[in-house]
Amino acid sequence: MKITFHGAARTVTGSRHLLEVNGKKILLDCGLVQGRRSEADARNRKFPFDPAEIDAVVLSHAHIDHSGALPALVRRGFKGTIFSTLATADLANHMLRDSGFIQEKDVEFINKRNKKRHGRNAEIIEPLYTVEDAEEALEHFSGMRYRIPFPVVPGVECTFVDAGHMLGSAIVSLRIDDRGSERSVVFSGDIGRPHMPIIRDPKHTATPDVLIMESTYGGRDHVPNDQAEDHLAAIMNKICGRRGKLIIPAFSVGRTQEIVYKLTQLRRAGKISSCPIFVDSPLAVKATDVFDRHPECYDAEIRKIMREQGDPFGMEDITYIKSVEESKALNDRKGPFTVISASGMMEGGRVLHHLRNSISNPENAILIVGYQAEHTLGRKILRGDEEVSIYGEPFPVRAEVFVMNELSAHADRGELMDWYEKNEGTPQQVFLVHGDEDQSTALAATMEAKTSAKIEVPHLDQSFTL
Ligand SMILES: [Zn+2]
Repeated sequence: MKITFHGAARTVTGSRHLLEVNGKKILLDCGLVQGRRSEADARNRKFPFDPAEIDAVVLSHAHIDHSGALPALVRRGFKGTIFSTLATADLANHMLRDSGFIQEKDVEFINKRNKKRHGRNAEIIEPLYTVEDAEEALEHFSGMRYRIPFPVVPGVECTFVDAGHMLGSAIVSLRIDDRGSERSVVFSGDIGRPHMPIIRDPKHTATPDVLIMESTYGGRDHVPNDQAEDHLAAIMNKICGRRGKLIIPAFSVGRTQEIVYKLTQLRRAGKISSCPIFVDSPLAVKATDVFDRHPECYDAEIRKIMREQGDPFGMEDITYIKSVEESKALNDRKGPFTVISASGMMEGGRVLHHLRNSISNPENAILIVGYQAEHTLGRKILRGDEEVSIYGEPFPVRAEVFVMNELSAHADRGELMDWYEKNEGTPQQVFLVHGDEDQSTALAATMEAKTSAKIEVPHLDQSFTL
């Protein structure tokens, strides 16, 4: 058995781990690489393996850094099945098409601008993949239920376990018949936090021989999330009070619904004043429908709210925006208002247009609610750059910047250790992935002090024979 880490190794995006066993090749996740533009683009356009030789993909959850390169994989020859939970398959249906659309639109925008600047000599770039490619990828999906084992390839059986990270998110538990001896591999995917809204808490698994575990916040503890609501209310009221615009960049799927859910709760409790909120993402609108269709993923709290108060994702102040015209109209609209828009790391999508319009006015604010990978626009704003480039143009950052890590959908150091220790027994080998280098190595050090398992923080494209 051999594992090669083709992404999310000492970094957070581009989750792609290749498992080779019994002459079969299984790809765990096939995510989009985000970060330094040219480097990310190169890794997204060319796989370090032949997609045609991959027998199956097992997808942990729908986030684009785990699923977003699937259309590129299919475009380059993948013919097998993509296994995911039912909710992930439904979310991917919207997310991958949306991603194809964004790829097409971003390239169109850049090509148009280059043409304006350089005339006929302008370099014309091709999208990474199109909506059509995404639709083709969707034909390969096979949605599976939680907790019911299914065969991936002959000799490899998979069970999806609740990961508590987003709707449909799963821990991938594999039982492998390795030439007569039974082995087990668990891939954690992204691990959520206990007591997150909407979805159930992460579950534990029987101890595997090999554990591939995320480490996004491997070296950090979040602010306790019981203060999250008051913190969010204070920011909302401050910006509304000074009639500014509040931009909340957020993943359209999961993150957006959680924020809307929290804002709805705050509004119903009278903790935030009445102030228009726009969800400017066609994908978020569709994803909210998917949330409505998958109550099998809900926790007890949201079921109770639905019974007692009705729709947890809708209230008078919230407008879901679909058309480009409505989105553009927001550019001219005066504050106060809040706009929740994608992408979460500010690497593409409609949020870039809102940032262009708002980032240089000190009355406005940007609220960062998710992880910002290295080299992304989000990371630059987070670390306090005074000027940033948006679509290749410089903009001074004068808007106030808030960060709320307590809304994170990722377990922090203590919660990761808690999850690890609650799994029964000790694995032989642990690989820490999906974390910036300092986070993965910090978690490795914490784990080494507490467990006899061999801990590795793999490098990009590094292979291990087990
Ligand atoms: Zn995720």
